[in-house]
Amino acid sequence: MPDAVDLIRAKRDGGQLSPADIRWVIAAYTAGTVADEQMAALLMAIYFRGLTADELMAWTDAMISSGERLELASLTAPTVDKHSTGGVGDKVSLILAPLVASCGAAVPQLSGRGLGHTGGTLDKLESIPGWRASLSNAGIAAVLADIGCVICAAGDGLAPADRRLYALRDVTGTVESIPLIASSIMSKKIAEGTGSLVLDVKVGSGAFMPDVASARQLAQTMVDLGNAYGVKTSALLTRMDTPLGRAVGNAVEVEESVAALRGHGPADLMEVTLALAAEMLRLAGLSADPAAALTDGRALERYLAMIAAQGGDPEAPLPSAQHVEKVTAHSAGRLRVLDARAVGVAAWRLGAGRARKEDPVSASAGIICLAKPGDAVSPGQPVLELRTDDPGKFDRAREALAGAIVIGPDAPEPAALVLERIG
Ligand code: URA
Repeated sequence: MPDAVDLIRAKRDGGQLSPADIRWVIAAYTAGTVADEQMAALLMAIYFRGLTADELMAWTDAMISSGERLELASLTAPTVDKHSTGGVGDKVSLILAPLVASCGAAVPQLSGRGLGHTGGTLDKLESIPGWRASLSNAGIAAVLADIGCVICAAGDGLAPADRRLYALRDVTGTVESIPLIASSIMSKKIAEGTGSLVLDVKVGSGAFMPDVASARQLAQTMVDLGNAYGVKTSALLTRMDTPLGRAVGNAVEVEESVAALRGHGPADLMEVTLALAAEMLRLAGLSADPAAALTDGRALERYLAMIAAQGGDPEAPLPSAQHVEKVTAHSAGRLRVLDARAVGVAAWRLGAGRARKEDPVSASAGIICLAKPGDAVSPGQPVLELRTDDPGKFDRAREALAGAIVIGPDAPEPAALVLERIG
């Protein structure tokens, strides 16, 4: 039997682990016989040394084999999912799943909760009275067959090794590693059983990957992994320097998503959503026009049905915050920068996000961006609206926003939001 210390030493010194070593260490860690401190050391060695293509395949395979795989083959529509590496104001999934379903695909969106400054789709939807994130595997298949889309929690049975590994990476400074991110995301998506997958790899201040070169490398690694498993996979690199849309938080993002499904979405949000929808439909082999499904109300109809199928009342009023403060412009000119990471951290500090996995989130806390980069502003004009139920949180939120708003004489050069496609 391999020994954890030998594996750590081998990786530390630049050696290569065999598939059998990798299978053993993931299984032993999941079963609790390899200790957290040993796995933490191995993760740090991987952080510095990386994984070869063969090691990455074996690592991902071991994570998939740690749990069950969903069986979606009985669905008649082609299955296609989207995964975002995480951004600020990124409510695209809420619009995209019903939109693509209304174009003829089946969309199994098994999602996560937010951690840190990026929001989680489930946290957002849980602000809808009655809505339940947890479904059994049979429940997932039933909603997919009836409505064509489902957004729900990835059950404990899918890639359970990732749950333990991710929690450990989070507290050991080993999240930002391309092979570890790629295997974490792709093991869950492959276990979910989707036929095709579009990855939205975010680049910029509010993203895991701050520059295009590292985002491209992450995207290519995930595309290669997906295709190796027979999941048709491609990726779009999209900019995340400023919040997507105007709302950042939970209930406020649901409101903005419903407005988008009613045809009133902000331009940046719709640009990214429609680009991802077109890519999903391309992979699924469908030729429908997603823009038409938005204007004629088909996508909204699917959304209402999807929420109701999970116990939610889509017409019920959403929670609203008891305390509101404004952040104003300090000079006249054009808004040049509204920094995504700072706004994400501020929304998190207002209560929209959690510091630890077990913490609750506030449905009503968040931020509304009243101005966006390029807009003209005058001194004293509100740029951000901060919302919370706990006024004691305003000071720390304002601290996070120091330097987040830059005003200059000219608007910034208009930059493309969708940078490139990979795969
Ligand atoms: N999302 C994941 O699921 N895993 C990571 O490692 C990073 C983002």
